[in-house]
Amino acid sequence: MPQYIIEIKELRKYYGSGIRGLGILALDGIDLQVPEGSIFGLLGPNGAGKSTAIKILLGLSRQNSGLCLVFGKKVSPQLRKRIGYLPEAPYFYKFLTGFEMVRLSAELCGMARRDAASAARRALELVGLGDAADRRIGLYSKGMVQRVGLAQATVHNPDLVILDEPASGLDPIGAADMADSIRRLRGEGKTVLMSSHIMSEVESLCTDVAILSQGKIAASGNLDSLLERGKRTILELDGADGDKIKKISDYAESMGVSAKAAGKGGIPLEKYFRKVVR
Ligand code: ADP
Repeated sequence: MPQYIIEIKELRKYYGSGIRGLGILALDGIDLQVPEGSIFGLLGPNGAGKSTAIKILLGLSRQNSGLCLVFGKKVSPQLRKRIGYLPEAPYFYKFLTGFEMVRLSAELCGMARRDAASAARRALELVGLGDAADRRIGLYSKGMVQRVGLAQATVHNPDLVILDEPASGLDPIGAADMADSIRRLRGEGKTVLMSSHIMSEVESLCTDVAILSQGKIAASGNLDSLLERGKRTILELDGADGDKIKKISDYAESMGVSAKAAGKGGIPLEKYFRKVVR
């Protein structure tokens, strides 16, 4: 096993004609390394090049230049079987049941029918769709469709799971369930690459990130070190007024600790919402 599950070097992709700057330069020579066992967040505004990078990783699109290695090798149909993929807006046949859809995916990955059936049941169970497995997808909610997507992306037990905006369109509870499923995948030793716009999701979930901007990597690395997590501590004070806060900060300063008021504390809205609704 290589140390990096994905290694991208000087990757360039033009749409249209790449000659003399004509066409759109979607990826402008990016370098990226995804460590084994990480939950890697690919971030960036719309049009930054995230989907283009994912398409190249999956072998659905070809770069104009540069190197893209997955498991230390160039992407091939054989290698594709070790990768699971959840597109941003998965489309499923509405007349199939969740079970039939996931079993079909397993069969397309080369599993024998009987193995595919038991793997599909297990994958649906793991995403919490055990009871709804035999209902038609047309009757599923958006959150359930996204979970079927995760089940079909993982039914063949891939080593790398690529998720394009996994929580897009989900309510906070659906998003929290999706986050739990992603943590579970990591717990099973898989590597997860996910694109996301939801910063709170990335902050609590990802171990590593790369921020893409206009086809270039603006920043990348381990999230703890990028956010200086080891150096800073947030102290939550309940019932302290202005005078007490000043005394506490003066005391901290006297110990050589720099204290800054971080604003009024409280429960994050997302957490509160989940507590009240759950
Ligand atoms: P993101 O996923 O970060 O929103 P994309 O990879 O979809 O970004 O797009 C990067 C750039 O490439 C954008 O300027 C987009 O308009 C352009 N682009 C993406 N796909 C195509 C395509 N098939 N043809 C032409 N331009 C494209």
